[in-house]
Amino acid sequence: MAKEVACSVCSFRVRADSDDELVAHFKQHAHEMHKNEPSREQILAMAKTVQIATA
Ligand SMILES: [Zn+2]
Repeated sequence: MAKEVACSVCSFRVRADSDDELVAHFKQHAHEMHKNEPSREQILAMAKTVQIATA
């Protein structure tokens, strides 16, 4: 089950299959773009589960 996090500052979105991947990608974005260091808990609290349509 994939999860998605949308950045609250810009329109960036990241989607990943594992929490670890999601957190790592979002942390990198927040750090590079906004100089933020969100915690794993904060990121996962913002995450939404998404259904990936498979053809
Ligand atoms: Zn952003």
